Amino acid sequence: MTGQHRIVVLGAGYAGLAAAREAIKAKGAHVTVIDLHTEFVDRVRLHQVAAGQDVARWELRKTLAAKGIEFVNGRAERIDTEARRVELATGEAIAYDSLIYALGSRADLSMVPGAAEFAHTVATSEDVRRIPALTGRVAVVGGGATGLETATELAESNPGLEVVLVSSDEPGGWLIPKAVAHIRTVLDRLGVQVRVAKVAAVTATGLDLVDGDHVDADIVLWTTGFTVPEVAARSGLPVDGRERVLVDDRLRVRGLADVYAVGDAAVMIGHNGREARMSCQAAQPAGKYLGAAVAARLRGRQPGPFTPRFVLTCMSLGRRDGLVQFMKADDSNGSIALTGRTAAWIKEQIVGAVGRAAKL
Ligand SMILES: Cc1cc2nc3c(=O)[nH]c(=O)nc-3n(C[C@H](O)[C@H](O)[C@H](O)COP(=O)(O)OP(=O)(O)OC[C@H]3O[C@@H](n4cnc5c(N)ncnc54)[C@H](O)[C@@H]3O)c2cc1C
Repeated sequence: MTGQHRIVVLGAGYAGLAAAREAIKAKGAHVTVIDLHTEFVDRVRLHQVAAGQDVARWELRKTLAAKGIEFVNGRAERIDTEARRVELATGEAIAYDSLIYALGSRADLSMVPGAAEFAHTVATSEDVRRIPALTGRVAVVGGGATGLETATELAESNPGLEVVLVSSDEPGGWLIPKAVAHIRTVLDRLGVQVRVAKVAAVTATGLDLVDGDHVDADIVLWTTGFTVPEVAARSGLPVDGRERVLVDDRLRVRGLADVYAVGDAAVMIGHNGREARMSCQAAQPAGKYLGAAVAARLRGRQPGPFTPRFVLTCMSLGRRDGLVQFMKADDSNGSIALTGRTAAWIKEQIVGAVGRAAKL
């Protein structure tokens, strides 16, 4: 490996894989991807997995090897930016010349008492594996995209199941009125009960609400609130109050040469100075940009800036319905929303394309 430039990519999610695919194109680059999973499972389909559906999954080592990319299965614990190496839980250390930090996000179960103890989530594949068999009454907490996708998918795929969606605001309430109304129609059609209320605590029997009521549930799925791995903060990388890495407009970690961060784990600034929302829509193009930018630097070029750009918000509402709302570049609402089967079809095309792009 003498003379090669060692590019280490932390995280084999949408951002990390897109970055690795571009970085390997640089002459003289040796690219290593590190992930704690051996398989890639489409994270944007985890609500489908939770509902009992099979989704495509593939082996990282084999697929990456076919592209000349090395794969290391392990949990990153710390980055030693002085010695330029990543320390793994096994005690192994992997040296780098350039480091791409793309460790993504996970569920934040610290928001109310009892959530960490009693709630389940759909944030990662192991979280989904831990969800008990779906019977009785399931309370899905969160009226954002993940909560809506989860509640509708569970109800449609498991007609015997009682599903209640608990949301502090109107489900999907940040969208335009047509979209919000459609969401309500689909929830009603699928028999999902909606409770607009704030959760005070999760208990062994369900949810205690701030208004004093209790929602009985056999299973609680917490879908609101994401946090990021502590690796960056633990390693002394500059982070914001949510421990996401602070980067400049070229995704360089502030104050550190040859260290970059991307995706959910980074604060990426978009149009009008707005932070990009944690999304595959931002993570995958950003990863692609970053891999190409690192490769360009190896050729002695200076890449231009990257600005995450949003086009739409799309969600599945079961397999046969969906919602596609067009957004402005800064992720504020546009004025058009598509609904029904057309929207479900568009969403499926997008998710399919994202999954194929991840597979290199
Ligand atoms: C159910 C669900 C549906 C979603 N639907 C959509 C959607 O429709 N559209 C959209 O834009 N976004 C959607 N998202 C959000 C989207 O999945 C994330 O924004 C996206 O995955 C972020 O990509 P990433 O590459 O930054 O991180 P991730 O995809 O989370 O990848 C991070 C990788 O890092 C690895 N990792 C983490 N910690 C360590 C460690 N210490 N050591 C080694 N490896 C580690 C993980 O195993 C993972 O492979 C959805 C999310 C969920 C949960």
